[in-house]
Amino acid sequence: AKQAGKNGAQLFDQSMHESVVRRLTTERELREAVAGDQLRLHYQPVICLDDGSCTGFEALVRWQHPVRGLLFPGDFIGVAEASGLIGALGAWVLQEGARQLREWRARPELAHLSLAVNVSGKQLLAPAQPDERLLAFDFPPGLELEVTESTLIDTPEAGAHLRALAQLGVPLSLDDFGTGYASLAAVQRHPIGTLKLDRSFVAPLPAGKRQRAIVASVLTLAAHLDLRVIAEGLETPEQVAALRDLGCRHGQGYVFCRPVPAGEATAYALAHLPG
Ligand code: C2E
Ligand code: CA
Ligand code: CA
Ligand code: CA
Repeated sequence: AKQAGKNGAQLFDQSMHESVVRRLTTERELREAVAGDQLRLHYQPVICLDDGSCTGFEALVRWQHPVRGLLFPGDFIGVAEASGLIGALGAWVLQEGARQLREWRARPELAHLSLAVNVSGKQLLAPAQPDERLLAFDFPPGLELEVTESTLIDTPEAGAHLRALAQLGVPLSLDDFGTGYASLAAVQRHPIGTLKLDRSFVAPLPAGKRQRAIVASVLTLAAHLDLRVIAEGLETPEQVAALRDLGCRHGQGYVFCRPVPAGEATAYALAHLPG
């Protein structure tokens, strides 16, 4: 038994060692990726549930890794936040998103499109230079920022930055709404224009009566507060119908379109123009 325990400890040390090495490798490679040409933006359509038209997109970052292939944010955003690379990564996302949005809106038939970009709380709080980058950024019309509840609540400084951005006229969305502790009253204290209803509320629809009641009351309160609601993670036509019946006017999800590269996103928008 003693022998096995010793081996166990060695295995543990070894796997810890491996995870530290993996993390450091990811950090070094991510530094190269941000400086080089390995980041990509994919775009997921935001759909008007009344007529099925595409009102805009959400930008989602990907890393085209030279060896590991296409990586998703879950593989590297945490490392970016922990290592301080999130400022540079976020600046690239904003720059590239703004460039793409300007390109779309330069076409008269796509001039209605909006683009939402995800902003990490760490990015809002990052030391002087990236802060200035965000506040000094030349936001084109139609560009919106998505933040999570924890960003609003945990940190007064982040709240102050969000107010400054709102004063610049940048629309703010509250991401993953309903998963944190914020009440709608807390939401009202911040300059939020859109709630993104987390997909954990969407998944049980249309079945659960209680779940329907929760979504219905969120929609009612949001309407009273003049907030737009976008339902996230719509995967089935039944979910779409249930949300439309409850009065939700916007949605996103695989049932409409997965996040896709800019070319496919353009084709989608052209095939789903508003009335
Ligand atoms: P999020 O902002 O909540 O984005 C929605 C996530 O759900 C995306 O995952 C999207 O691909 C996925 N999704 C969309 N429709 C469906 C659906 O119908 N079903 C299911 N199961 N999933 C769906 P993704 O692209 O892996 O992004 C994960 C998270 O990474 C995002 O969650 C966001 O918090 C973060 N993220 C993405 N891009 C950026 C970025 O540029 N900067 C920062 N700071 N964070 C980002
Ligand atoms: Ca988001
Ligand atoms: Ca979300
Ligand atoms: Ca999320």
